Amino acid sequence: MPTTINRQIVRIEESLCNGCGLCVSPCAEGAIQIVDGKARVIREELCDGAGFCLGVCPTGALTIEVREAVPFDHDAAAPIIAEKQQNYIPQHCFNCGTSEDQRALLPVRQQGRSEWVCTRCLPALIHG
Ligand code: SF4
Repeated sequence: MPTTINRQIVRIEESLCNGCGLCVSPCAEGAIQIVDGKARVIREELCDGAGFCLGVCPTGALTIEVREAVPFDHDAAAPIIAEKQQNYIPQHCFNCGTSEDQRALLPVRQQGRSEWVCTRCLPALIHG
């Protein structure tokens, strides 16, 4: 039995999850999969609790909680990250179309949509 620690980890509220799968690809470590129509953290050791999946969920089913879990396993995640890097599809800023290869993107929610915004366009969203 692996030792557990108290740490941050993604929590999925099953009653809110519609199984859309939008949270699967933002997880670089492959911790989230759709199982029987619902998102699940399939291996706790692959979830680093960073929460990059949170911003894309259209229903608010994803949160971060602190609880007992096995530690994040960098060695287990490394080959999955490398494999996903080979097939990744760059996302684009909803406002200007800039690719994440050119500028860092952040997830935003507005009017019920989950979108990506680049660091150049973000200040205009904040300050209007
Ligand atoms: S993005 Fe949200 S609603 Fe969609 S599968 Fe993931 S947890 Fe469920």
